[in-house]
Amino acid sequence: MSETREVIIIGSGPAGYTAAIYLGRAGLKPLVVAGALTPGGQLVNTTEVENFPGFPDGIMGPELMENMQRQAERFGAELVYDDVESAELDGETKTVHCSGGDTYTARTVIVTTGSYYRHLDVPGEEEFGGHGVSYCATCDGFFFRGKPVVVVGGGDSALEEANFLANLAESVTLLVRRDEFRASKIMVDRTLANPKITVLMNTVADRINGDKQGVTSVSVRNTATDGEEKLEAKGVFVAVGQVPQTAFLGGQVALDERGYIQVEGASTRTSLPGVFAAGDCADPVYQQAISAAGTGCRAALDVQMYLDELEA
Ligand code: NAP
Repeated sequence: MSETREVIIIGSGPAGYTAAIYLGRAGLKPLVVAGALTPGGQLVNTTEVENFPGFPDGIMGPELMENMQRQAERFGAELVYDDVESAELDGETKTVHCSGGDTYTARTVIVTTGSYYRHLDVPGEEEFGGHGVSYCATCDGFFFRGKPVVVVGGGDSALEEANFLANLAESVTLLVRRDEFRASKIMVDRTLANPKITVLMNTVADRINGDKQGVTSVSVRNTATDGEEKLEAKGVFVAVGQVPQTAFLGGQVALDERGYIQVEGASTRTSLPGVFAAGDCADPVYQQAISAAGTGCRAALDVQMYLDELEA
């Protein structure tokens, strides 16, 4: 166990690194528990980010996150590549236990743990996970070069995945469960204009089929006509939204009915004094890199106000 710090930041996406930059510049030497396997958060698995202000020609997701990390370290943030397993957040000293066995204490904690991929929960999804079923086209798309693939979802992520895969796969079939997309107009227009992508509206995946080699097809159903068919596919990319990563908190801070951390008004204050939340884990609505970065900044300022009040 090391000395009690001023602040621990759990998570290393845009919210975590932005908080670390501000707190580092304030001289508070933040400790960032960055994650063992996925430091940098979801943008590390993204291709080009076109809508982060300041990069008129776009920037690759991994490069953007590396820049944020370097900027945080430049101002004295200390990074550990570990996952938080559990935490005791009540009381004046907060304790954070990591899977690697280390324990850290601090007077304040900022939770910026983001979210993970929602699953379809259909037969075959778990069985063929890593053998044709994927949640990340930029990570796994390469394996499906020249092969037919199915993408499930009607939001920006699914359309981004479909367009990315269209450059690699033989064909892309996009399954959208309603008669409407959830994605932004620019992404819908781009997708509909792509000759490699076939869009099936009102269509759900009922089952993912395969053999010893992996996925072979997807059984789909049209919810308007109840018509069923089997689509040949070697890969199935599931992009149906996110689930906030807040289970490790064990119910110590107030969550909403979907598991997002509840914060007080426009602040990042949670139901526990000295515990703050920023980014997607506390944002059921906007979920953008830039809005996460914005709340990371707020969390850093909220931490400083809280510490000042303790001193007063
Ligand atoms: P999302 O916007 O919540 O969309 C999820 C999609 O999956 C919706 O079309 C939803 O259908 C569908 N869906 C949910 N459960 C399903 C199921 N069991 N079976 C079939 N379809 C299902 O999630 P997202 O696309 O991951 O995006 C999350 C946030 O990140 C959004 O705010 C998005 O704008 C943002 N984002 C932005 C960019 C960008 O700006 N370049 C890129 C990626 C993501 P319904 O519509 O019927 O609910």
